[in-house]
Amino acid sequence: MTVRTRVAPSPTGDPHVGTAFIALFNLAFARQHGGQFILRIEDTDQARSNVESEKAIFDSLRWLGLEWDEGPDMGGEKGPYRQSERSEIYAQHVQLLLDAGHAFKCYRSAEELDALRAQKKEAGGFSALKYSDLALPQDVAAQREQDGAKYVVRMHVPEEGVCTFKDMLRGDIDMDWGMIDCQILMKSDGMPTYHLANVVDDHLMEISHVIRGEEWLSSAPKHQLLYKYFGWDMPELCHMPLLRNPDKSKLSKRKNPTSIMYYHRMGFMPEAVLNYLGRMGWSMPDESEKFNRDQMFSNFDIQRVSLGGPIFDQEKLSWLNGQWIKELTEEEFMQRYVDWGVNKSYLQPAVAHIQPRISTFSDVLPLAGFLLSPNPEIEVASFTHKTLENEQIVKILQVGLWQLEAIRHWDKENIEKRLFALANVMDVKIRDFLFPFFVAIAGTPASFSVLDSMAIMGPDLSRARVRSSVNLLGGVSKKAMKKLEKEYRAISQKIDSLLAGE
Ligand code: GLU
Repeated sequence: MTVRTRVAPSPTGDPHVGTAFIALFNLAFARQHGGQFILRIEDTDQARSNVESEKAIFDSLRWLGLEWDEGPDMGGEKGPYRQSERSEIYAQHVQLLLDAGHAFKCYRSAEELDALRAQKKEAGGFSALKYSDLALPQDVAAQREQDGAKYVVRMHVPEEGVCTFKDMLRGDIDMDWGMIDCQILMKSDGMPTYHLANVVDDHLMEISHVIRGEEWLSSAPKHQLLYKYFGWDMPELCHMPLLRNPDKSKLSKRKNPTSIMYYHRMGFMPEAVLNYLGRMGWSMPDESEKFNRDQMFSNFDIQRVSLGGPIFDQEKLSWLNGQWIKELTEEEFMQRYVDWGVNKSYLQPAVAHIQPRISTFSDVLPLAGFLLSPNPEIEVASFTHKTLENEQIVKILQVGLWQLEAIRHWDKENIEKRLFALANVMDVKIRDFLFPFFVAIAGTPASFSVLDSMAIMGPDLSRARVRSSVNLLGGVSKKAMKKLEKEYRAISQKIDSLLAGE
């Protein structure tokens, strides 16, 4: 058997370190067995998927040295490798399931589904919706069909009993069918859900081993059943432990930067980040801390993965990065440093702001060093403003951060549009509004254009600095956050209509 593995990210945000972690283990497994590694883009959620995010996935995986053999940007025999280009295939497969009676059209409205769930909850026991709950009287179903009512396609699942499936790391796992819904396979807009597309693609792309995050364990019974319905062999399943913050919670950007590109911009070496990811729940047979990709691959054994949630700790990563840096020759060090940030493509956009403000070259670093250094040391007192209260500053930074997170194409124009619209909706003078951003980004309000600075530094570093300033100022309490989120929903609607009306 040829081993074929894949990583299947959804392009809906920043390229996540979790994606790189899963990609690394899939690639290691494939290389260990002389097999192939595939990149598939799961972009069936059309509202959230975007090309900028897809490109960021390509760039960041390549930066880490996680090269794929087949994928959307390079083709391959089993393509297309972007799910949005495979709608026909999913439609055919849904039809097969409908024809065989393994799936059914469900005309239930959202209100009816809510009521059904509430009923089941009240009755106690499992709350999953089964065919016996969902089926409509025949005449009602026929009427809805005749009226052209919206429907989804759902799979049949057993009403009760136990499903057993095998995981490469855990052995046999039992799950009660009672917990498992009649999963939607095709949405009312004709798009497949993750479950259908994933199973069909893994089969057609001849994936032999599915190595994915632990959060998909509960999907395994449905997937196993789909393979059975289609009459296909199921790939081996392997669920990797989830990466965690140092406080053991699931890795989240509020506590730990999660975008791979953040680590790039902060001056980490890709070899060190990869090495660190390789240490997440896995170790070399000789327990060595520092190893490169090829050393990992030639010593790889998936059974050495341990299931305790590995902690992604930036301090440990920094230590490891330091080990990698120390081993560079002086020549390599210079070259790496220049390639990273002291180069024309990164710094030239800042020159127009620096040149008119200085009289000697030695003034450059004090003025623009924040573009090259990590989070500047900022005092709480630097945020003191003549009219804005501390509380309002935190609020401006937090909602500003949400606006910055909403930007897909990161450039000065979009940053300006978003922040200016926000200042307008919040009714704060633009000068005052930008003040805390100057301090968060450059450490001082006396810096040059903060919009240009953010454009140069890129989204990851800019957002991280704003986020850490929110924390420095005491953060937003849970209760206040709830209120702010609510307020923000109204604000962002206004902004969207303001921007749409331009
Ligand atoms: N698209 C899924 C994700 O974003 C893929 C999960 C899987 O590997 O099956 O994680």
